[in-house]
Amino acid sequence: MLRVGFIGLGAMGLPMALNLHRAGLLVGAWNRTRARAEALAAETGATAAANPAELAAGCDVLVTCVSADDDLLEVIDAVAPALPAGAVVVDCSTVAAATARAAAAKLAAVGAGFLDCPVSGGTEGAAAGTLSIMVGGDETHLAAARPALEAMGGSIVHLGPVGAGQAAKATNQIMVAGINQAVTEALAFGRAQGLPMDRLITALEQGAAGNWFLSRRGPTMIRGEYPLGFKVGLHAKDLEICRRMAAELGVKLPVVEMTLLHYARLPAPSADEDISALFRLKSDMFDASDD
Ligand code: NDP
Repeated sequence: MLRVGFIGLGAMGLPMALNLHRAGLLVGAWNRTRARAEALAAETGATAAANPAELAAGCDVLVTCVSADDDLLEVIDAVAPALPAGAVVVDCSTVAAATARAAAAKLAAVGAGFLDCPVSGGTEGAAAGTLSIMVGGDETHLAAARPALEAMGGSIVHLGPVGAGQAAKATNQIMVAGINQAVTEALAFGRAQGLPMDRLITALEQGAAGNWFLSRRGPTMIRGEYPLGFKVGLHAKDLEICRRMAAELGVKLPVVEMTLLHYARLPAPSADEDISALFRLKSDMFDASDD
């Protein structure tokens, strides 16, 4: 049986680790804030490792899901010396493609594999085990890690060598920005027209404008609630990645630039709110026009 360990029990990582447990694959976890690993251990019987290296030493596959690029590289440095030869690190964080390639190089130097496996589908998809997983890396590493990926995802698409998964995820995040812009702005407009908002959402989701974000976040945003979700701060981090990757091609992306600007204009403390809080900014436009 594959021995899978997990690092990064946050909003995404915890439900993903629970799905690995349900599949009978999870042997242990490590989290920077130890209480989270201890709670998972109490619930599942998996080990709460004292440090990343202790966990890595007993794993065939190690899944990581941490915040950002430097966090991932810190974790990779901590686990690399301890991983058994042939082990594969599956990183589900969203980081730059170049960071994925740097992590893969560090692991290749100690005989371990690496797959960049960023995910989409939100905390709901993480809980349901239906995440869309975008894979970059070697076919052999993918074959070794596949049972773990299948426990966490509903769709596993191999897009190319290391970095290709993150390039696909950056593409996804540009689309998420555009959808957030369109849904929040349109619903703020609909409300300013005096429409019955619940019925409006029902009507819209049946037609050509229907989408995941409208159905999942529309009903809460119209009540002024923005449950997590996906934090503004994390999406802004992803859009900075998109901005850098586009700049390498000499391009500035309007949707990326506008969304970063609008996130920066959200009144503090916005970084820990769900991205649907953009609805506040869009609603304020109409409120301001009443003055
Ligand atoms: P959270 O902020 O909820 O969790 C982050 C996790 O990473 C925590 O377990 C945190 O530990 C850990 N961590 C952060 N920095 C370090 C570090 N330097 N060393 C060790 N551990 C660290 O974030 P999410 O779970 O929401 O997101 C995780 C990743 O998944 C991000 O890259 C995000 O962009 C991506 N993602 C998020 C989605 C979402 O809807 N939330 C959807 C798809 C992808 P601690 O508990 O100590 O803080």
